[in-house]
Amino acid sequence: MAFEGLSDRLQSTIKKITGKGKVSEQDVKEMTREVRLALLEADVNFKVVKDLIKRIKERAVGQEVMESLTPGQQVIKVVKEELTDLMGGEQSKIAVADKSPTVIMMVGLQGAGKTTTTGKLANLLRKKHNRNPLLVACDVYRPAAIKQLETLGTQLNMPVFSMGTDANPVDIAGKAIEQAKEEHNDYVIIDTAGRLHVDHELMNELQQIKTTVRPDEIFLVVDAMTGQDAVNVAESFNEQLDISGVVLTKLDGDTRGGAALSIKAVTDKPIKFAGMGEKLDQLEAFHPERMASRILG
Ligand code: GDP
Repeated sequence: MAFEGLSDRLQSTIKKITGKGKVSEQDVKEMTREVRLALLEADVNFKVVKDLIKRIKERAVGQEVMESLTPGQQVIKVVKEELTDLMGGEQSKIAVADKSPTVIMMVGLQGAGKTTTTGKLANLLRKKHNRNPLLVACDVYRPAAIKQLETLGTQLNMPVFSMGTDANPVDIAGKAIEQAKEEHNDYVIIDTAGRLHVDHELMNELQQIKTTVRPDEIFLVVDAMTGQDAVNVAESFNEQLDISGVVLTKLDGDTRGGAALSIKAVTDKPIKFAGMGEKLDQLEAFHPERMASRILG
């Protein structure tokens, strides 16, 4: 289970302070030191931890008194609020274009879960929002990727737009939108090519697709298991494409959680969804507050 180590450590730290009728500055100091170590061990970005601890300290020491809570509980409340804020505060929704179709571009490195997430997102849009998406296969470099998306389309009984491997991805994306208009698909989800590393050529292509289709959302799919690498990948995709949100996959694995806790702070872009397994219904809206509660137990 994700966050297990972090969760265990924070919970044991919290236990020490919960019942306290009086919390001294020394108590806060000890608690924040343990929170700091727990976060660093969970691979949370160093600077992110530093800023977070500073805020927790300031708030926990100078906090206003609330009658319903013991001082210990109040300190915990501060930690929870700060963790929630760190992950983005309010959960953010998917954009809806004024004029249909709404266009979503899925980007990310190979193996992050982009194609799977394209299928999952389409499934969620239909099930939860009664939408009728068109999936678009723009990864012309790997025939297997097109096949994979087509298979997902068959499983979901949803249309997949593809022009094989000889066409230009920018043309494919443009034509797909024309088809969506004709066929009244209200969402177009474009599965783009991935590489093993961030590379210039790929970014160029993605920028061209972006210019052509003017997407309402650009979702970067990153693998939570890759920790700080996921954060670095998010930073460079964001710099080059100005993404609108992140989908964190493989949160069902035993990730230490650093990526989930650092991405928003580093990129200032929200985590919108979390992949919780390989199946098509295993995509969840990412709720920072619920995630913070889950971590703190
Ligand atoms: P792409 O190269 O980015 O398109 O990646 P794929 O969609 O092909 O996914 C790569 C692998 O990760 C596949 O085996 C997926 O089943 C798996 N995968 C994707 N999302 C998740 C997830 O949320 N949890 C788990 N456990 N596996 C996932």
